Amino acid sequence: MTQEYPYNGRLSRWEEISPGLAIVAVQAIEEPFGFEPGQYATLGLMGAEKLIQRPMSISSSADDLSEYEFFIRHVESGAFTPLLWERSVGDLINLKGPKGKFLLQDDGRRALFVASGTGLAPFISMIETLRGRGLARDVVLLHGVSHDHDLAWRQQLTELEAGDGFPLRYVGTVSRPQQCPDWTGCTGRVETIVAAQLDAHGLTPETATIYLCGNPDMVSAVEEIAAQRGFLPEQVRKELYWPKGRAH
Ligand SMILES: Cc1cc2nc3c(=O)[nH]c(=O)nc-3n(C[C@H](O)[C@H](O)[C@H](O)COP(=O)(O)OP(=O)(O)OC[C@H]3O[C@@H](n4cnc5c(N)ncnc54)[C@H](O)[C@@H]3O)c2cc1C
Repeated sequence: MTQEYPYNGRLSRWEEISPGLAIVAVQAIEEPFGFEPGQYATLGLMGAEKLIQRPMSISSSADDLSEYEFFIRHVESGAFTPLLWERSVGDLINLKGPKGKFLLQDDGRRALFVASGTGLAPFISMIETLRGRGLARDVVLLHGVSHDHDLAWRQQLTELEAGDGFPLRYVGTVSRPQQCPDWTGCTGRVETIVAAQLDAHGLTPETATIYLCGNPDMVSAVEEIAAQRGFLPEQVRKELYWPKGRAH
C-alpha cells in the first residue's frame, strides 16, 4: 500500500535544456538549510511502495536559499528520474540536505574544473557563490556533453569569460559532433582534451587543484592523466555520480 510521505519542498522552476535534460528548482516549504557550494541535496518522490531518494548536486549560489537549483538528466531505466519527469512546477517533493564533501578548497590555488554532463552543477554553484561574494578564483572549466544543445549555461559562461568580472576560461566539448552541424568548437569526450588544456593554461601540480565531477569513467581517466603529470591524490578532488563499472 502506498504510504503518505511528508513532502517538504515544492518544484518551483523547470527549464528544459534539451530533451531529457533540465534545470529544476525546488523551494523549501519549511526553514531552508544552508550549504557550501559543491554540496548536494537528496530529492525524494514516492514510488509504488516507498520513497525513492537520489543525491543531486546543487547548482545555485550558497547565498540564495530562496530555491535550490539542480541540473538533472532523465535516465529512462532509472527509478527516480522517470518519477520526477511526471511532475511539474507546483508539485511537492522531498528535500534533504546538505550533504557531501566536494568543496572548493580554501588553498588559493588555480582551479581546473572538469565536468561531464550534469556534473557541471556543483561548479556553477561554486562560480556563482564566489561571484556573489565578490571573490575571484582563477578557474578553467571544461564541460563535456554528447550534443552542443546539452551545454547548459553556455551563454552565461561565455559571457562571463568575455567580461572582466571573473577570471574564467570556459571550454565546451561535444562527443557526437557528427550530430551537431552547427558546432565549431572542441570535439571528443572531455577527458581527451584535459592534457592539452593543462598545457594551454600552464596548470601544474605547483599551481593548481583539479576538481572532477560526473561520469566515473571520466573521473578515472583524468585521475590517470593528473597522476602522470605529478599531481598528488589530494590535489585531485572528485565527485562520482554513479559507481564505476555500472552501464550508462
Ligand atoms: C553525490 C551525487 C550527486 C549527484 N548529482 C546529480 C546531478 O546533479 N544531476 C544528475 O542528473 N544526477 C546526479 N547524480 C546521480 C543521481 O543521484 C541519480 O543516480 C540519477 O539522477 C539517476 O537516478 P535514477 O533513479 O533515475 O536512476 P539510477 O537507478 O540511480 O541510475 C541508473 C543508472 O543511470 C546512470 N546515471 C545515473 N546518473 C546519471 C546522470 N546524471 N547522467 C547520465 N547517466 C546517469 C548510471 O549508469 C546509473 O547506474 C548524483 C549522484 C551522486 C552520488
